[in-house]
Amino acid sequence: MAKTPTHDGIETSVELTHPERVYWPDDNITKHDLLEYHAVAWERMSPFVINRPLALLRCPDGIDGPRFFQKHAWKGINHHITEIADPGDKDAAKLLKIENFDGLAALVQSAALEIHPWGTTIDHWEKPDMIIMDLDPGEDIAWSKVVTAAKEIRERFAALGLTSFVKTSGGKGLHVVASVKPQATWTDIKDAAETIAHAMSADSPQTYLSVASKAKRAGHIFIDYLRNGRGNTAVAPYSTRARKGAAVSMPVNWEELDDTIGPASFTVKNAASRLGHSSADPWADFFKAASPLKV
Ligand code: ATP
Ligand code: MN
Ligand code: MN
Repeated sequence: MAKTPTHDGIETSVELTHPERVYWPDDNITKHDLLEYHAVAWERMSPFVINRPLALLRCPDGIDGPRFFQKHAWKGINHHITEIADPGDKDAAKLLKIENFDGLAALVQSAALEIHPWGTTIDHWEKPDMIIMDLDPGEDIAWSKVVTAAKEIRERFAALGLTSFVKTSGGKGLHVVASVKPQATWTDIKDAAETIAHAMSADSPQTYLSVASKAKRAGHIFIDYLRNGRGNTAVAPYSTRARKGAAVSMPVNWEELDDTIGPASFTVKNAASRLGHSSADPWADFFKAASPLKV
C-alpha cells in the first residue's frame, strides 16, 4: 500500500480516507492536520501510548458531532489498532492498544480525538508506572492557585521519594504525574494518591476538596486521585482534546509553570515549535526518574 509521508518525515502505511475532513471546525483543523501534529509529537508521545490499554474518545464527524468513549473494538476497526485480553479479567471483552506510528495513524483515521491510556503497560499490567493527580478547579478559582496546588503535590510526591512531572490538561486544569518503578500494585498506587488528596483537603479545606462532589466544587480545587484505579484512565501526554480550540495535553517544565501558561494554552496549531528537535523535552527523563513507591 502507498505510504503516507508526513512533513516530519515519518511514514505510515495507513491511508487516510477523506484527509480534508474537518475535525475542529472553528479552528479549521482537518484529519490530515491531526496526522501531521501526531507525526511531530510521536517521538515524545510514543512511550505514553504504545503497549498500554487505551480508551478512545471517537468523534467521527468532528467535535460538534456524536462522540463515543470506547474501550473495545468496533466493526471495521483498522488492523493497526490491536486487541488484547486483560489478564486479570479473562471473561471481559478485549481491550485496545497500538504498537507503533501506524497505530497512531489508525487512531487518526478512526477519529479518535482523545487518547486515554491506563497508567501501566501490557508488560507489567498489575504494576503501574505512574501516579496521576488531576487538578480540577471549580468556578472562581484563580489559576495561580492551581499552579500552587500542583507544586504542593510535587512536594508531597517528593516526600515519598518520587519525581513529578506536570502537563496541562488541555481542558481546565493541570495533571501532576509521578514516575514510579512498576513494582507496587494498583491498590498501593491509588492509596498513595488518595492519602495525598485527603491530606491536602484536611490541611487546606477552604481550598482543596478530595471528594468528587460537583456541588461542593465551587471555590475549591478538586484533587482528583480517582484516575489511579485499575482500569481508570487519564488523557495521554500530547493527546488532543475534542473541545473547541483544539488544545492538547502538553508537558511543561516546572520552571515555566506560571500565569502565562493556561490549561489550554497549547494547541494543535501552536504545538509544533515546542516539539521540534531543537527544543528541550520537559518530560525527557520521565522513565529514567522512576523510583519505587515506598509502601
Ligand atoms: P479537565 O481539565 O477539563 O478536567 P481532564 O482530562 O482532566 O480535563 P475530563 O475530561 O473531565 O478531565 O475526564 C476525566 C477522566 O475521565 C478522563 O481522564 C478520562 O480518562 C475519563 N473519561 C472521560 N470521558 C469518559 C467517559 N465517557 N466514560 C468514562 N471515563 C471517561
Ligand atoms: Mn481534570
Ligand atoms: Mn477529574
